[in-house]
Amino acid sequence: MTQNKEMLKCPCGSNLNYSECCGRAHRDQSMAKTALQLMKSRYSAYVLGKIDYIKQTTHPKKRKSYDFDQLKRWSKESEWCGLEILDAGSKDEKVTKDIVKFKAKFIQSQKMHEHVELSRFEKKKGLWYYLDGDVS
Ligand SMILES: [Zn+2]
Repeated sequence: MTQNKEMLKCPCGSNLNYSECCGRAHRDQSMAKTALQLMKSRYSAYVLGKIDYIKQTTHPKKRKSYDFDQLKRWSKESEWCGLEILDAGSKDEKVTKDIVKFKAKFIQSQKMHEHVELSRFEKKKGLWYYLDGDVS
């Protein structure tokens, strides 16, 4: 049973097809031109269980702090219910440090959870990376 995910609406809520939205960043990290685009593509990666992408887009100096196998289990056990952007950060593609604040909703153990986070991102050699964040 294979589903053609490329034709589905993107999980990030953009109303575009996945292949024309976060799918582009999933194929090529440099397609995420802003911190916001990277953040959305990371959300979509959680929804689709693409934890390799989460690892790849986590700042190399921060990767040690995560258990990506555990994140994979968590992403699969969660039912993802949408993303809301609270602060989109800069639209200037020249900035190399930026923040994005978002709310992600998911159901786990039959309970609705809201994850609100102010995330920090850094661009290195043309690629955006997730640095860290404050969960509120
Ligand atoms: Zn998307």
